[in-house]
This record gives sequence, structure tokens and C-alpha cells, in this order.
Amino acid sequence: MLRVLFIWLSESKRLRRIAEHSSMGRKNSRRFVAGETVEEALAATAAVNQLGQGVSIDNLGENVTNAQEARSSAALYHQLLDEMAARKLDANVSLKLTHMGLDVDPKLAEEAVSGLVAHAKRTQNFVRVDMEGSPYTQRTLDFVHKLHAEPGNQGVVGAVIQSYLRRSEQDVEDLLSARIRIRLCKGAYKEPPELAFQKKSEVDANYVRLMKMMLKSGVYHGMATHDERMIQATIAFARAEKVPPESFEFQMLYGIRRDLQQQLVRDGWRMRVYIPFGTEWYPYFMRRLAERPANVFFVLKNLFR
Ligand SMILES: Cc1cc2nc3c(=O)[nH]c(=O)nc-3n(C[C@H](O)[C@H](O)[C@H](O)COP(=O)(O)OP(=O)(O)OC[C@H]3O[C@@H](n4cnc5c(N)ncnc54)[C@H](O)[C@@H]3O)c2cc1C
Repeated sequence: MLRVLFIWLSESKRLRRIAEHSSMGRKNSRRFVAGETVEEALAATAAVNQLGQGVSIDNLGENVTNAQEARSSAALYHQLLDEMAARKLDANVSLKLTHMGLDVDPKLAEEAVSGLVAHAKRTQNFVRVDMEGSPYTQRTLDFVHKLHAEPGNQGVVGAVIQSYLRRSEQDVEDLLSARIRIRLCKGAYKEPPELAFQKKSEVDANYVRLMKMMLKSGVYHGMATHDERMIQATIAFARAEKVPPESFEFQMLYGIRRDLQQQLVRDGWRMRVYIPFGTEWYPYFMRRLAERPANVFFVLKNLFR
């Protein structure tokens, strides 16, 4: 119930306007968001790198409504790629196609992301295209396949698969046959039963099934989850199949299960932390509350401090 409520609230434009402009909202968002500026995101990245963990930086924002906004979002990612190289950070970037203008004009998004992938190629970096709600699944996958097929782009751009979607097994097969790097997650949006498994046990079982297909592929993938059972299943499979620890990475969100992040590094596994930053933190923040009721109590407690 709470999950559905918070996902619904995450789509409210009115609440978003109020929250993003209130100092209380900003203060609370800091639990999961590194700050509002590039400098704050880079400082958080350097701190995470010090712990032996990689980073993927995400400039928060989705569904831009005009070309100018889309171009500014892309410009900010160019700045991030330059700074990552100049500061020798162990970091790449994650972006959403709707933030690059997909809803305004698909050509605009294509130009923007092609430019970023070309930049990442020059600086030996990597661009991950996040996965959004199901109206965008096919378009996003087509986009990544097309971009990845261009000369020199192999290994420079990757996709995300959500284990709650019934279609994902086929999508993983297609991505693997093109040797495209995948981030596997459970999925963060509200999807209908005809498209997505609704029971946690089914989503988890599909996660494990897809993880096994991915780890056997010999392509470098990311297992994005905070679920200890998914992590244990991945470790057990990697050990049983003799998949070397350096041939894939675990990924977790900034501010969530730091204890587990550090434990995995101590145990010799690779870890990448997804660091979001920016002024448009509201939908991201609300999706994190939707995932765990205890986070709502944390926020309520802070309101009365
Ligand atoms: C690096 C990364 C990138 C992602 N990219 C995408 C994407 O592109 N598209 C997309 O749809 N989704 C994305 N997600 C979100 C993902 O789909 C899930 O919504 C989210 O990770 C929660 O699922 P879980 O695997 O942690 O398991 P769950 O079953 O939700 O949680 C398992 C356990 O993890 C801990 N936990 C989970 N969430 C939280 C939280 N918010 N606060 C505190 N503890 C928590 C709790 O202990 C919980 O019991 C991403 C997640 C990660 C880690």
C-alpha cells in the first residue's frame, strides 16, 4: 500500500514544486541525494572512491519539456565527464533519455546521448542509460542497441534491465547477443500485472534467473540491489561457476546499506555507488521512500527535530 501511495505521490507536480523549494525538503533529500551542484557530486564521488568503491553520477531530472532544458542537461554531463578525467575519479555517468529530451524530440535525445558517448570514448569512460517506466522500455532498448552498434561504441554505452518486467528475459538475451553491458535491478515504477510480476517472490526469482544468464556471458555487468538474498545468490553462483570477482560489479544507491557496500569490498567484490545530485530530486527521493517504509519514519522524525 505504502509503495503504491509513494509512487503515486512521486508523480505529483504540485507536491514536487513545494518540496523542491522548501529547505526542509532539501534537508531530508540529503539522505539519498549528494547535493545540488556538480562540485558537491564530485566531492561525494571522491569520498566514495576513498573507500575503494566506484561511482556512477546521475544528474537528477526526467521528462524535460523543451530543447533548451535538454541541451543544458547534456552540457552538465559533458562537464562531469571532463571533471572525472581531470580529477582521475573512478566514476562514470548514468542518464535518463527523458532528461535528454526524448519526449520533446527523439532526434534531440539521440544527438545529446551520441555526443556524450563520443566524449566518454575519448576519456575512456562509460555512459549508462537508466531505465524508466514501461512506456519507455522498447524505445530505450532500441536506442541503446543502435548507439552501441556504431563503430567504436562497444563497451562505452550500456543498458538497464528491470527483473519485475515479464519481457526482461528476452531483452537480456538480445542485449547479450550484442554484448551490451547490463545493469540488472528489480525496477522502481508502478507497472500493471500484464507487464510486470507483482509478487516480490516472482521479481526475485526472475532477478536470479537473469543474473545467471548475465554472469555466464563474459560481458562486464552490474548487479544493482540492496537485497542480501540477491547478493548471496550472485556470490554463490559466481563461486560455483568460477566467475572472477573482477568480471562484474555490485551496485547500490548512495546512502543505502553503506555497511553492506563496505563489507562486499572487504570481501573482495567490486562495488559501484550510484550518486544522484541536482535540484530536481523529488521523484527520485519519493521512489526511495516507496521502497522502504522505515525511510518514511526517518523523514517524519527529522521534521520534528
Ligand atoms: C545502482 C542502482 C541503479 C538503479 N537504476 C534503476 C533504473 O535505471 N531503473 C529502475 O527502474 N530502477 C533502478 N534502480 C532501483 C531498483 O529498481 C529498486 O527500486 C531498488 O534498488 C530497490 O530494490 P532492491 O533490489 O534493493 O530490493 P528490495 O527488495 O526493494 O529491497 C531489499 C532490501 O534492501 C534494502 N533497501 C532497498 N531499498 C531501500 C531504500 N530505499 N532504503 C533503505 N533500504 C533499502 C532493505 O533492507 C530491503 O529490505 C536502481 C538501483 C540501484 C541500486
